[in-house]
Amino acid sequence: MGRRADFSLTASPGSLLEVAASASGARIVDEDGRSYLDACGGAMVMSLGHCHPRLVEVVQRQVAELSFTYRFSFRNGPMLELAEELRSVSPLADTWCFFNSSGSESVESAIQLARRYWQLRGHPAKTDLISRWPSFHGSTHGALSLSGSKWRAFYEPVLDKHPVAPVPNADIRRRRPPDEEAVWAVRELEDALVRRGAGNVAAVVIEPVTGASGAAIAPPPTYMAELRRVCDRHDVLLVFDETITAFGRTGEWFAACHWPDATPDVITFAKGVTSGIVPFSGVLVSGQVAEAFEQSPEGFPYGHTFSGYPLGCAVAAEAIRVIRDEDLVAEARRKGALLRDRLDALAADSPRIGDVRGLGLLQGLELVEDLETLAPPPGAASRLVAACRERGLMIYACPTPIGVTTIEAVMLAPPLTISDGELDEVVAILGDALAATG
Ligand code: PMP
Repeated sequence: MGRRADFSLTASPGSLLEVAASASGARIVDEDGRSYLDACGGAMVMSLGHCHPRLVEVVQRQVAELSFTYRFSFRNGPMLELAEELRSVSPLADTWCFFNSSGSESVESAIQLARRYWQLRGHPAKTDLISRWPSFHGSTHGALSLSGSKWRAFYEPVLDKHPVAPVPNADIRRRRPPDEEAVWAVRELEDALVRRGAGNVAAVVIEPVTGASGAAIAPPPTYMAELRRVCDRHDVLLVFDETITAFGRTGEWFAACHWPDATPDVITFAKGVTSGIVPFSGVLVSGQVAEAFEQSPEGFPYGHTFSGYPLGCAVAAEAIRVIRDEDLVAEARRKGALLRDRLDALAADSPRIGDVRGLGLLQGLELVEDLETLAPPPGAASRLVAACRERGLMIYACPTPIGVTTIEAVMLAPPLTISDGELDEVVAILGDALAATG
């Protein structure tokens, strides 16, 4: 059947992709029968792999029983159940929840929640947000305005202007020792906050480990605690966008669990929570923040039509139970260490890998011309992704603007359920593709 023409708008006109026909576990099969090993879950979505039988079963049951209710008309059982499950794994004290259908929606919710929180606390001028670049927080207006990503270039003139701070460790050419890098990056953020005036700032919004923009940059060990202190000192909420890092991906239930002395006030999540079975996302809020809304007659005046719909909630609740039953958080830690060892070995043999980084089963490789200059080779990430695809392996390209340069990086986010043998296969194909594109 080959590549059929279609009439859907895509971000890569002219390159008609193969048509996917079926998928299971870590493999996708196209309509010509070609099999692809999925080491990135499309865009870091497939935590439990494709079509996990327990999630499929829940969809079939729930869709026949109660698929939709509107949040102003009814509460529903799966929503209450999901809130209980989330409270049992959330690092926030006395967790409250709000649900949506996409990462972008949850970032928008977190933005409005932070602003409304300060209104309720008597500080209506605290509306601005501080984000970090590089980052990606979503495609909707508010989320894209926060993002330091290649996508903003097209919409720059109409985006909101917020103060921006650097991501520590983002520039491998200028990287300092970890403690110094942490102090520098937090100082830059605090300076930006003070310049804007803490009385005007509602929240600092960060990805704890970067994703689509930046390719799995994890912070130096002391960074988060310093950042938390700055937020406390200036009375600003700290929001972690865990769209891709939640639900075991980094070897903890949430990335926030890696820094118990820097717990955020709000966490957004999406993607892996339903492993691609239905669109779903949410926001976790600490009890201290939720209290302001509980005391207000309007509650949290925000939402989307599908906020808290039973089908999505049922799948998310079951996914959490699967992660617990299959011990997938520990598995992500173990397989992440295995993957990291193999990637480090690849890098030791390749002068074109300038950096291996990440946490758990979220790992990134930065591609360079050579290990002397560490200069980014233009287009290298896309070439490597294409070479992997030709060999039946899916990985994620992260070309990322840092200042005036674009770094070339790729990212791996295989299912937490991937087998050790499949992980070996991922690295073997990646090595072969690297050699071929060298
Ligand atoms: N936040 C982060 C950290 C993301 O990686 C993404 C998507 N890549 C989003 C938000 C937006 O999610 P969605 O595409 O589901 O709107």
